Amino acid sequence: MNQLTIGDTNLEIIRKDIKNVHLSVHPPDGRVRLAVPAKMDEEAIRLFAISKLSWIKKQKAKFNNQDRQSPREFVSGESHYYLGSRYILNVIETSGKQHIELKNNKFINLHVRPNSTVEKRERIMTKWYREQLKEMIPKYIDKWQNVMGVQVNEWGVKLMKTKWGTCNIEANRIWINLELIKKNPRCIEYIIVHEMVHLLERNHNDRFNAYMDKFIPNWKGIRDELNDMIYESNKWSY
Ligand SMILES: [Zn+2]
Repeated sequence: MNQLTIGDTNLEIIRKDIKNVHLSVHPPDGRVRLAVPAKMDEEAIRLFAISKLSWIKKQKAKFNNQDRQSPREFVSGESHYYLGSRYILNVIETSGKQHIELKNNKFINLHVRPNSTVEKRERIMTKWYREQLKEMIPKYIDKWQNVMGVQVNEWGVKLMKTKWGTCNIEANRIWINLELIKKNPRCIEYIIVHEMVHLLERNHNDRFNAYMDKFIPNWKGIRDELNDMIYESNKWSY
């Protein structure tokens, strides 16, 4: 059983070598994941899920509320994130070159044409974010290639909905999620290291985790920081 449906709620069931049931609701759309002990029987899983249905619905509703708040209009006064810090957007009209500059560690000054559309403002911001991230990545790759003794042949940045990064181990190619530019640099480095460790170990197994422990001893804390959007239940015994 990988999938369980109760009414209009779908749960992804993952059997693992764990003692307790672990329930979580994930962004961006409220995907529900239930990790259960390998030997837990299906009826017990179903009963557990039913008992947590109102909790699940409450968490999913939070995502819906956030979605309603989250569309950015790219107007002055709005909050935008860069390298883990919150900045206030200033929209400044210009007939010169459209560009972005940071001011006093507090403001993102967006210089655009008068009456520019939201889409245009967003495009300028996205382009700038992409340039900043692309500037940061090579130094991390160089550093960790030396430490790990692996070779990254190709890398790129793209916007991804559900992953912070990916690694194609046949091509030695990694992709980094553009959204990471909004996070602390240690998160960016952690994801690059994670993807590069896949060049040493394909799977997320003990060997993989041992490499992570060795390279970034506090990687679990950074992972939690990155996933702070995930609503997790307590670890319930059953
Ligand atoms: Zn991975």
